Amino acid sequence: MIWLPIRHRLQSELIKRGYCVGCAHSLANELREEHPQKTNMHIVYCNCGRIYLYDLRINQYRRALPEEVPTNSPQKHGE
Ligand SMILES: [Zn+2]
Repeated sequence: MIWLPIRHRLQSELIKRGYCVGCAHSLANELREEHPQKTNMHIVYCNCGRIYLYDLRINQYRRALPEEVPTNSPQKHGE
């Protein structure tokens, strides 16, 4: 799949600019809360179901890993 690396790079670029890779919503407007275990981190729930972490120290978003999502999160799908 030759297009995969390019697609991946575009997704990282979108996230860095603060947009969801799935629905292109601005993450600044999505539901967020302080991460219960990580200091200086917000956890951001996009309304399409994707979950991001916002690092307050560098002002950047990244995708949350499954183990970084609190089990009581409002949009955790049974994965
Ligand atoms: Zn989204």
